[in-house]
Amino acid sequence: MEDIFDPTSLPLSQDTFHALWENVVNTISEENTPQGLLDEANQIDLLGQPQSLSALTLLLDEKMPGEIPTQEFANPPSSTVPVTTDHAGGYEFELRFQKSGTAKSVTSTYSEMLNKLYCQLAKTSPIGIVVAGEPPQGAIVSATAAYKKTEHVAEVVKRCPHHQSSDNNSHLIRVEGSKLALYFEGPYTKRQSVTVPYERPQLGSEMTTILLSFMCNSSCMGGMNRRPILTILTLETPEGEVLGRRCFEVRVCACPGRDRKTEEENKEKNGTKQIKKRKSAPAPDTSAVKKSKPASSGEEEEKETYNLTIQGRDRDLMFKTLNDGLELMDKVGNKKPKQEIPAPPSGKRLIRERSDSD
Ligand SMILES: [Zn+2]
Repeated sequence: MEDIFDPTSLPLSQDTFHALWENVVNTISEENTPQGLLDEANQIDLLGQPQSLSALTLLLDEKMPGEIPTQEFANPPSSTVPVTTDHAGGYEFELRFQKSGTAKSVTSTYSEMLNKLYCQLAKTSPIGIVVAGEPPQGAIVSATAAYKKTEHVAEVVKRCPHHQSSDNNSHLIRVEGSKLALYFEGPYTKRQSVTVPYERPQLGSEMTTILLSFMCNSSCMGGMNRRPILTILTLETPEGEVLGRRCFEVRVCACPGRDRKTEEENKEKNGTKQIKKRKSAPAPDTSAVKKSKPASSGEEEEKETYNLTIQGRDRDLMFKTLNDGLELMDKVGNKKPKQEIPAPPSGKRLIRERSDSD
């Protein structure tokens, strides 16, 4: 196995790799977008430089720091959750963001407080790469995106259908200003990434700058759909070994300066609120239904409103649908007593709480 899959021998023996690739392709069933696989195979045909080898590892998904890439060739996982922990590594890999402030006109700005980049759609965000010492020859910088919340992390971050079709490109993250940028998609995980060769800083500069742009708004329906994302930047050897990793949240929006300001202020407010709460009272049970304001009209119970804290988007939608249904029933049969409204299993609490207050 190791003789066949030794990546250091690959550039010298393309035949061996082709045999391997055939093997990989053949193990995937026909239904699995054969055209896509074909494209990926073609992409790999163009390889040959050490730099693209690591891209190959990437294509076959997915590297763990310190692991020998040959093992991943032999047995690529069918699904992986991207690693999002910061890891400076031996080269003390770090990022530097421009200090752009929160002016209205700003197109890209970074919040140290929130470790979050705010930028406009398709506008360039310069990101400084700082390393100590000289990374191995052929090292690359790779950028990929992942959903921040656990309930979304399994889903691959891609552009929304609308923006995808505008230029037939599904990659959310682009590297601008480099002809050496390469775009990849894992055949199993379908996760996308873009790589550029690591270049040492120019004389007199302490960092290398790469230019990232994000090709969808965070709010894009059918794409990110308001779900927060993380961008993961890694410094890697040509063989795909991760030497350092840095993650930051990204919000792509129309007014980066305004949104950054608002979110930083909220963070500060919440911080002080939490401290106050902890001092004065125990934390409230978030699942409890609270009576927020009693109505003053004749049909008192009918018009009382309640706030429900619901976790998870699906459940939230379910409850909304349920509530819409109940309201419709109220409208249609508002002369019937409430007790006749059948309680769906998932709405028990809602119904019970209402009748409790009768
Ligand atoms: Zn979009």
